[in-house]
Amino acid sequence: MKIGHSSIILKSLSLPLSLLCWTLLGGCEAGEAPEPRGEPSAQAEAGGAPDPRAGLSPDAKLETEAMLREDMATPRSPSDGGGRAWRLASDQTHVAGTRERLEIVFETGPLGIAENGAIFLQPSPFWEWDPPQARFPDAPGFSEVTEIPEGVEIELDDRNPGMLIAWVRGRALEAGETFHFVYGAGSQGAKIDRYAEEQTPIYVAVDGDGDGVRAFIEHSPRIDIVGGPPRQLRLTLPTTARPGETLRLTVAALDRHRSLSPVSEGRVILADPPPGLLAPRVVELGGVFGGRRTLEFKVEEPGIYRLEAVGEGELEGLTAISNPVVVAEQAPRIAWGDLHGHSLLSDGTGTPRQYFAYARDVAALDVAALTDHDHWGMKALDGQPKFWSQIREAVGAFNQPGRFVALLGYEWTSWLHGHRHVLYFSDQGEVYSSLDPRYETPAQLWDALGGQTALTFAHHSAGGPVATNWLYPPDPVLEPLTEIVSVHGSSEAPDSPLPIYDPVPGNYVRDALNAGYRLGFLGSGDSHDGHPGIREAGRSAGLAAIFTPELTREGVLEALRARRVYATNGARIYLSVELDDAPMGSFVEGARGEEAGDQQLRVEIVAPEPIVRVDLIRSGASVTIPVEHRTRWTLEREISALRPGEYHYVRVTTEGEGAAWSSPIFAR
Ligand SMILES: [Zn+2]
Ligand SMILES: [Zn+2]
Repeated sequence: MKIGHSSIILKSLSLPLSLLCWTLLGGCEAGEAPEPRGEPSAQAEAGGAPDPRAGLSPDAKLETEAMLREDMATPRSPSDGGGRAWRLASDQTHVAGTRERLEIVFETGPLGIAENGAIFLQPSPFWEWDPPQARFPDAPGFSEVTEIPEGVEIELDDRNPGMLIAWVRGRALEAGETFHFVYGAGSQGAKIDRYAEEQTPIYVAVDGDGDGVRAFIEHSPRIDIVGGPPRQLRLTLPTTARPGETLRLTVAALDRHRSLSPVSEGRVILADPPPGLLAPRVVELGGVFGGRRTLEFKVEEPGIYRLEAVGEGELEGLTAISNPVVVAEQAPRIAWGDLHGHSLLSDGTGTPRQYFAYARDVAALDVAALTDHDHWGMKALDGQPKFWSQIREAVGAFNQPGRFVALLGYEWTSWLHGHRHVLYFSDQGEVYSSLDPRYETPAQLWDALGGQTALTFAHHSAGGPVATNWLYPPDPVLEPLTEIVSVHGSSEAPDSPLPIYDPVPGNYVRDALNAGYRLGFLGSGDSHDGHPGIREAGRSAGLAAIFTPELTREGVLEALRARRVYATNGARIYLSVELDDAPMGSFVEGARGEEAGDQQLRVEIVAPEPIVRVDLIRSGASVTIPVEHRTRWTLEREISALRPGEYHYVRVTTEGEGAAWSSPIFAR
């Protein structure tokens, strides 16, 4: 039975929460990652035994892997996970980050709960919910139990942070008997999720026989949370267009954590649009629009445009400036994608449908993939076929060729070889779990995917929660690209802006290129907060700028396979790089012989923030060009022709540590 560490055994109760922090970035800061206990490799070396990490990632998390396997192998008694729970007053609307009093009824299942069995109440450990506690009525999160059946005593235990355990004493709870949990019963209430999301569960688990092993009940109680008051406005334009075309402008009002703010009365006033851009002046966002709009209008003249706006009504005092759009006769088509993120089905927040709706309607992305973990989070995708159906259903509902590409995917979350997300470019696809002995190495995963229209992406490869095991050369068909940057930071090189935490020297993407791997670059959010495509101020995120003339799954796949893509850490930067006539990501003939001659390098950058430097990186060596705080920058220079085996890419850094990386050009 696969239940995941939903039902983690009691003796390791405190372990999963701290481990979960590794993957996540909201409830726990990167720096809080727990120290791996013991250093198996060091101990092994001292004793002369073989290194247990041999053949694995250089920072393989052996204990995490062992804990997950032990949990999966632990049998549950039939009474574990029995019972139902629901909220009283469940029609209430809750605003993100407010303090509430939530009353939950628990009803014992048909097999009862033995004396010394227990019921567990656990809000999401990630998003600043107040941990339930039973000791201090005037402190946040105070919780109690009421309406207890006669003869039963419920002993509350809050020693495991984030979780309230109700031990059953006195006698067993009989089938159908109920009692109430009141979370936030004290004077301060309990702070709920800081992000707006529908149907967020407050998890309830049951150890029915008192053996210390628990399982989730089938349906944990849920709560709908809406965004807080508006704190920021966003205007998003496409990055390129041609004269005479229609532009799509996305306007959104967000709360302080980037959730959509449900504006009831308010609008934005666009500053005089430049001539040639036929934009409206007033955009209503209140009432039925619920804080967001998508509008279309024509652009007639070539140029580089940005739009500015100020808010009115509830949006008074807010201002916004859009990203730049480059309008030119031969402008390439760029689709913005975020191809990696998580929902409440693993360790994120929000439903799959909310994820795609935010990607399309708030973040103004053109392409998105939801990639929940195969076996990580409160419940495990590999043990819940209905989760996979839910994801497939959402992908099918949102994929709309020509308007928005939604891709099916999941994350192969190996703690031994590093994480890879898997994307399918059709409606079909399976979850090949990294804990299934048939798919536990990268080679086995690629074997399983062989012949399918799928791609895999190693990510946080230089460190973060776990580094990539580069001993497996990326499959040339299934893995032409690598995710160089995400919320975990940049894995490109040690001198990257906003670099990855817990780096493993020698394991950067640049090291992989130096070892001869031919990988293009993209960025992805790896968001867990339900906000794909929009980064939190001051933090890294990731986007993929995909050069595709066609906004379809086929078009996107073709572009990704050809590495016609670049990465940014969240900013909508325009970046064009050519060597002679070869675009980024391509292979050129390497120059041989003494008189190899020169090649013409052309770079064009248009950034939303002033550019501070541009680095030209050639086969491990870099040349830095300082830039005098301009938002537009071009370069034409002769470089000596690339020799066979060489590569060349461009890195842009802007104010505020924004960055973009072109895919390399490779010489055969
Ligand atoms: Zn990951
Ligand atoms: Zn991930």
